Amino acid sequence: MKSATIIGAGLVGSLWAVYLAKAGYKVKIFEKRPDIRLTEISAGKSINLALSTRGWKAFETVDVADEIRKIAIPMHGRTMHDLEGNLTYQPYGKKGQAIYSVSRGGINAKMMDIAQQKGKAEIEFNEECIDIDLENGIVYLQNTITNEKSEYQSDVIFGADGANSNVRTYGFEKIPDYQIEKRPIADGYREILLPANEDGSYKLDLNSLHIWPRGRFMLIALPNEDGSFTCTLFMPHANDENSFENLNSKEQVKAFFQNTFPDFYALMPEIADSWGDHPLSKLGIIRCYPWTKGKAALMGDSAHATVPFYGQGMNSGFEDCSALWELMEKHGDDWPAIFSEYQLSRKPNGDAVQDLSLDNYYVMRDFVGDPQFLLQKKFERRISELYPEKYMPLYSQVSFSNIPYAVAYKKGKEQDKYIKGLMQENDINQLFEIDKIDELIHQKYAE
Ligand SMILES: Cc1cc2nc3c(=O)[nH]c(=O)nc-3n(C[C@H](O)[C@H](O)[C@H](O)COP(=O)(O)OP(=O)(O)OC[C@H]3O[C@@H](n4cnc5c(N)ncnc54)[C@H](O)[C@@H]3O)c2cc1C
Repeated sequence: MKSATIIGAGLVGSLWAVYLAKAGYKVKIFEKRPDIRLTEISAGKSINLALSTRGWKAFETVDVADEIRKIAIPMHGRTMHDLEGNLTYQPYGKKGQAIYSVSRGGINAKMMDIAQQKGKAEIEFNEECIDIDLENGIVYLQNTITNEKSEYQSDVIFGADGANSNVRTYGFEKIPDYQIEKRPIADGYREILLPANEDGSYKLDLNSLHIWPRGRFMLIALPNEDGSFTCTLFMPHANDENSFENLNSKEQVKAFFQNTFPDFYALMPEIADSWGDHPLSKLGIIRCYPWTKGKAALMGDSAHATVPFYGQGMNSGFEDCSALWELMEKHGDDWPAIFSEYQLSRKPNGDAVQDLSLDNYYVMRDFVGDPQFLLQKKFERRISELYPEKYMPLYSQVSFSNIPYAVAYKKGKEQDKYIKGLMQENDINQLFEIDKIDELIHQKYAE
């Protein structure tokens, strides 16, 4: 029987197991953590994530979308909270379009169940991959409890072991002249759980992603199924008045939330006591190439870890599953052909999802309140209202379509250039008039 090994039973690895099982592979997964279905999910990783169209497509192919839909909360738009507590709502896309808040642990557990039950995949927990022979398809393992070492050979291996992948470090990075770039950013994040009201109801509107933009830092909140919200504070680690290094005591945390997020503080006056419940974590991108060698391939964060400012890391990892599956349909079990086409076609998209995420980081950080930027967004919304078939905003291309990330990135740059050009050529004050905007748009798009 054809055999496959997956290192990492995280989001991507556990979904990929369902695919391989569907193709008739005997699947073995090695996961260094204990079974999350029996223990608390490990702290330090975001508890919920935004799932969008690319993720749904990957679920639909293996008939698991209905199961996930049961644990997904639609967020139709973003609700911005200003300093005075005023709310502004912006829909994400057209009527009915939404991104979905899902629990990392919930999806992961569901996929493991499906991989084991439907696909008869075997998952070995507490087994850490410590080395790999790419050419011969052998993984070297160490049990995290007993320290016992073992090895396992199969026809093909997938490194789905996340941003700090050992498959990449001990396998791929040993390839002479291997391309690897690890770029940390100046900001980190800390999660905060905003509990439900005593009667179990939500303290904020359930079907929104909530954002408290404050220039150089921001707080966001995504709903959980139990009435709570997982909130994440993104902020510089240091060298800024508002940075994590200046939030060292309960008094500092309390004063910071009272002054900068007063409406949030009113909902959670006990914030200073909960501050230490989740660790301060780092963010960055990891860019590498090649992604395949011999009998092994990288997928998900091990190949293209990104910063979370477009909500696409997991979605792009799930899209790797779709891409590999389409190539398996084309090439059967010819892994050299699959791997060659996989890395050539996916690498530009891995780079693009990172570029998109970094661009959005700078936009959210530096431009979100800028009048020129807001005018540009107004233009964009109006063009897509008037000519929806000719103009799809970049956010929609990324979150509500399967247009390759690299194509969306390029198109987004062209659109940006066009709108900025119009703003430069015209009297900026007139451009705030909707009639003037419409006139310019019709000139370009009507025919
Ligand atoms: C704050 C934050 C918010 C985010 N929000 C979003 C979002 O809204 N939407 C979105 O799409 N993405 C989001 N992401 C990105 C998303 O979390 C990742 O892209 C996704 O988890 C990648 O999945 P993966 O399976 O490749 O890696 P992981 O989820 O990291 O899983 C890797 C697995 O491999 C195991 N492992 C690691 N090393 C070994 C080893 N040596 N041997 C055996 N097992 C090993 C790990 O224990 C883990 O189970 C966010 C990320 C962060 C940090």
